[in-house]
Amino acid sequence: MKTKGHKNTKVNIVTLGCSKNVVDSEVLLTQLRGNGIDAVHESGTDDASVVVINTCGFIDNAKQESIDTILRYVDAKQEGLVDKVYVTGCLSQRYKDDLEKEIPEVDAWFGTRDLSRLLKQFKADYKQELVGERILTNPGHYAYLKISEGCDRPCSFCAIPIMRGRHVSRPIEELVKEAQNLAKGGTKELLLIAQDSTYYGLDLYKKRNLAELLNQLADVEGIEWIRLHYAFPTGFPMDVLDVMAQRSTICKYLDIPLQHGSTNMLERMRRGTTREKTEQLLQTIRAKVPGIAIRTTLITGHPGETEKDFEEMMDFVEKSRFDRLGVFTYSHEENTHAYSMNDDVPDETKQQRADAVMELQQGISYELNQQKVGKTYKVLIDRKEGGSFIGRTEFDSPEVDNEVIIDATAGYLRIGDFVPVKITSATDFDLHGIAV
Ligand code: SF4
Repeated sequence: MKTKGHKNTKVNIVTLGCSKNVVDSEVLLTQLRGNGIDAVHESGTDDASVVVINTCGFIDNAKQESIDTILRYVDAKQEGLVDKVYVTGCLSQRYKDDLEKEIPEVDAWFGTRDLSRLLKQFKADYKQELVGERILTNPGHYAYLKISEGCDRPCSFCAIPIMRGRHVSRPIEELVKEAQNLAKGGTKELLLIAQDSTYYGLDLYKKRNLAELLNQLADVEGIEWIRLHYAFPTGFPMDVLDVMAQRSTICKYLDIPLQHGSTNMLERMRRGTTREKTEQLLQTIRAKVPGIAIRTTLITGHPGETEKDFEEMMDFVEKSRFDRLGVFTYSHEENTHAYSMNDDVPDETKQQRADAVMELQQGISYELNQQKVGKTYKVLIDRKEGGSFIGRTEFDSPEVDNEVIIDATAGYLRIGDFVPVKITSATDFDLHGIAV
């Protein structure tokens, strides 16, 4: 297809935000190429005639980054470097009406469930036969598998249901087929992602069916690691822990955002649980899956958070000794339940509390990492960086968790390979080791 400035259409897809957006961009890339359209992801060259920006609309910083990226490509369009700028994803889903007026230079805006309409811009059709196929945008030895879309939870602070809609599980057969295709393409690690992975199946199978999905994925030849992300504490399906304990290809790893450690705040956040129930769940998880690494995420500065609530969060973090932890400061998001509350915690206090939690966690992580020194772990090599190979144990997810640093002068290691590594030293968030 010919476009004004450039001889042939070449599409550059730019992805912002979370791993779910990465998967959406990969599906778009696969569909465009499946229609014979020259498409790339995050191209370093400026020979693309059309740019599709897959935006994030989660919280302030992410929204600002999306806006800045849109404006950067609008400038490029005005300089004649690109012919068309299309915007899709969460920010577009959430603010399309305003953005259309504020940035009229964008050629078209699309929502989070608008793939067919976006493809039409390229005179391309959605190819059903490509479902389960996906061109990956990362090295390929690991891949995200999005098991559902949307969320039915009422969390007070969260705008995701506004942008991603109601929870829709993907059929097990489709997910197993996609995992098989990814394995054929060299993927060894699958990261299961969703807004709420533990809700899986309630819509489609009228029961929580994550354990069954994990079992079937664990049978996929070539997949050596399956990692579970975005579990929700309330109504946690305990049969998932049995499968985790029984199946060696399922990582002893669980990402379960808990958001707070004070019952008062968990109620204000509409999380449907209490500190006691959360601690009970953590004990059960650790008892049923010995040695499991637990990752969580917390929010500081939600409306109504008192100094006492914050002290409870600190006490919760101290006692729970999470293996991995991330903290967000509360962002006052329109149309969320919390937006009707008074955003009464000053930004400075929000940040001070987040820093204090991370400082506490840094000490805990350092102590936990020291216990790994002298032990040998199966490590997946992700990349080479300077004089080192960088990899991860089964207790670490890419981009968010600890890494294993291996001296490259000691011998060549192939990216995407599993290598036994003896840990020789450890810092707060990284391990150092030698291949054995
Ligand atoms: S479960 Fe997650 S995505 Fe769903 S409303 Fe709660 S925080 Fe948002």
